[in-house]
Amino acid sequence: MILGDFQLTTISGGTCWIDGGTMFGVVPRALWKRTVEVDDDMIAMATNCVLIETGEQTVLIETGYGSKFDEKRRKIHRGEPGDPLVENLAAAGVSVEQIDVAILSHLHFDHAGGATQFDERGNLRTTFPNAKYIAQRREWINATAGYPELQGAYPQENLLPIAEAGQLELIDGNAEILPGIRARVTGGHTEGHQVLYIESGGETAVFLADLCPMEAHLPPLWCMAYDIDLLQTRRVKPELLGQIVDRDWLALFDHDPRLAAARLTRDEKRGFAVAEGIERL
Ligand SMILES: [Zn+2]
Repeated sequence: MILGDFQLTTISGGTCWIDGGTMFGVVPRALWKRTVEVDDDMIAMATNCVLIETGEQTVLIETGYGSKFDEKRRKIHRGEPGDPLVENLAAAGVSVEQIDVAILSHLHFDHAGGATQFDERGNLRTTFPNAKYIAQRREWINATAGYPELQGAYPQENLLPIAEAGQLELIDGNAEILPGIRARVTGGHTEGHQVLYIESGGETAVFLADLCPMEAHLPPLWCMAYDIDLLQTRRVKPELLGQIVDRDWLALFDHDPRLAAARLTRDEKRGFAVAEGIERL
């Protein structure tokens, strides 16, 4: 898909399945189960990574869950075998060496898992040897400081090799990452969670990350159980979705199994709804 001078492509970092209750928090099951495909209490969760070719740089937003699941976790999450992100990039004609910048909205396993991989000898290394990896400093500190209450959320094997390789670049708050791509810290899902604005030729797309991961999360009060600051998500989400509607921006969903992007509209019942869905960029 063309956005001004930029070429945007959806690259799947792999689909997996996750407990539906965790994805909808306090929303009653009787309500959310009507909006998504449910199988044995699990729902399908895509990891829609976005490749941006700016003409000068090759940028990847998110890295999916990667290839390091142990068998137990792969079974629970029905993870795809192999390295889905790397294989899907290759199918799109992009090698791991070509990625100049990898931007992470936050550092949970389904976003940062593909940032590192095992080499042939079983040693950890970064997946993209030439990339700068961009994350919020607050998020990085929370993910790596060893806080016991956050340990389960941030497997260190996804993160430490980035810093060890000297490829980590931390940003503080709202910032321009490169011309046409800027970050806005929203908090909510995690303290350092950020969304990304992609702007070129007068057009704008917003990668919503886990502020609004799926079409089913468009109602402002429908939030994930994982959100550490539920009220913050409930404040920021309608503000940003309203802006997207009013300015006719494109919304990009990170976990929707059907839609990678959408034009949005206001909806009397649900607050916001998809006006026009786009399955793949
Ligand atoms: Zn996520």
